[in-house]
Amino acid sequence: MPCLFCKIVARELPAEIVYQDEHVTAFKDLHPRAPTHILIIPNAHLVSVDDLADEVAVNAAAQCLRVAREIARARGLTNGYRLVTNIGADAGQSVFHLHFHLLAGRRLSWPPG
Ligand code: AMP
Ligand code: ZN
Repeated sequence: MPCLFCKIVARELPAEIVYQDEHVTAFKDLHPRAPTHILIIPNAHLVSVDDLADEVAVNAAAQCLRVAREIARARGLTNGYRLVTNIGADAGQSVFHLHFHLLAGRRLSWPPG
């Protein structure tokens, strides 16, 4: 089955892309849960953090963290932000292409649900 987020990387599916380089794509979440809600994904298909089995995959995830920091700084999120990645059914993962949610712009409760 074609992967939704692979299609966004390839620009075969519309998305509000806010950042893209050779490793990473970042775009606005379709159903934002906070004033800032951006998804940051590796361009290469990985299912989740549970898929980070070798150095190439780990580096792809690390590149996502680099971009999260860059986006946060560029947007002046000095009051803080949260990075979330859901892994598997119990965590509520609904798209099976590794993604980090960057959430900001309001007070976020803890612990998450
Ligand atoms: P998760 O539940 O952690 O797997 O997160 C998947 C996220 O992808 C949800 O927050 C959805 O709102 C978001 N999403 C699903 N389809 C799209 C899309 N086509 N463009 C942007 N965000 C999407
Ligand atoms: Zn994919």
